[in-house]
Amino acid sequence: MKHDDCIFCKIVAGEIPSAKVYEDEHVYAFLDISQVTTGHTLVIPKVHTTDIFETPAEIAGELFARVPKIANAIKQVYNPEGVNLLNNNGIFAGQSVYHLHIHIIPRYDDKDGFNAKWVTRDDQFYLGELQEMAKDINDAI
Ligand code: 5GP
Ligand code: ZN
Repeated sequence: MKHDDCIFCKIVAGEIPSAKVYEDEHVYAFLDISQVTTGHTLVIPKVHTTDIFETPAEIAGELFARVPKIANAIKQVYNPEGVNLLNNNGIFAGQSVYHLHIHIIPRYDDKDGFNAKWVTRDDQFYLGELQEMAKDINDAI
C-alpha cells in the first residue's frame, strides 16, 4: 500500500519524476539522484515497506530476484569492474529514505566515489564464541 508521505511511493506512482530503469508488477528501479558512481541504481518494491525488518519474505524475494538482470544491464552499458549491492536499514546504517531499497553501485576503480571500510576483528573471537553467537541468532529465527 502507498504511503502518502513516502518519496519512493510517490516515484512509483509517477507523482515525482524519476529516471526509470525498469518496472514490472512488483518492482521499480530508477537512477539514484546522487549517482555515487555512474549508473547507481535503486531497486525498490512497489508496495511500501519501511526496511528489511518489516519486509515479508515474498516481497524480499520478488525484489532480489530482479537485481541480477538489472545489474547485468548496467554492466553491459557501463562496463564496470564490479558492483556493490547495498541495503541500509536504520539511521546508524545510513538509511535516509524509509522505503526499502537496494542500491546497485557500479565500481570502476578504488577511487570512484564509493567507499565502505570497516574494521575487522577476526583476532578477537574464538570459534566457540562465534558458534555460541550463531546459536543465539539461530534460536531467534
Ligand atoms: P539511503 O541513504 O536511504 O540508503 O538511500 C536513499 C537514496 O535515495 C540516496 O542515495 C538518495 O540520493 C536517493 N534519493 C533521495 N531522494 C531521491 C529522489 O527524489 N530521487 C532519486 N532518484 N533518488 C533519491
Ligand atoms: Zn513508500
